[in-house]
Amino acid sequence: MKSNNWDVLISSAHIQEGIRKLGAELTQIYTGRRIVVIPLLRGGFMFAADLVRNMDVDLQIEFLGAASYGEQTRSSGEVRLTLDTTLPLSGRDVLLVEDIVDTGLTLAYIQQLIKSRNPASLRTVVLLDKKARRQVDVDIYGCVFSIPDRFVFGYGLDSHGGFGRNLPDIVALKD
Ligand code: 5GP
Repeated sequence: MKSNNWDVLISSAHIQEGIRKLGAELTQIYTGRRIVVIPLLRGGFMFAADLVRNMDVDLQIEFLGAASYGEQTRSSGEVRLTLDTTLPLSGRDVLLVEDIVDTGLTLAYIQQLIKSRNPASLRTVVLLDKKARRQVDVDIYGCVFSIPDRFVFGYGLDSHGGFGRNLPDIVALKD
């Protein structure tokens, strides 16, 4: 797919290199433990698929789906759960995998939800962090890339109407 209204912000090769490093670090942390990895859908599916293939750890996969009410490019902070986990999380080591943290409102809501189920531990990893736009403090264990305040899509993230998720690179709309 080619377009003249976006630029490649992070190439596929660069994404894979960052994920390999994070996967190795998580392997060290979780070695000898059986963990539950929870990709947050929809945006986190591609990152999670690559991340778990770089983790040499016994793990199960569960999914949480979240959508925030609001405009296409800005979240309102009011989160709607679109899919819930099926395994009990009580007493489990949970790794939450999210595509992007912007205001932090979605992640704060989801972390609270998981904590209410009494996991033994909860760590959150995000692929992209738009630090400049943070409204609430969220506990993030690992972030692969910090990015400027631009609307991005590709590599699991959508542009409009759910399209664009299959681009291998992360691209940013031109201003
Ligand atoms: P937050 O609640 O932290 O403001 O927003 C998190 C959610 O907003 C992400 O899970 C994602 O769905 C969406 N989001 C925030 N910034 C972007 C962006 O630049 N591109 C896309 N596609 N989604 C974004």
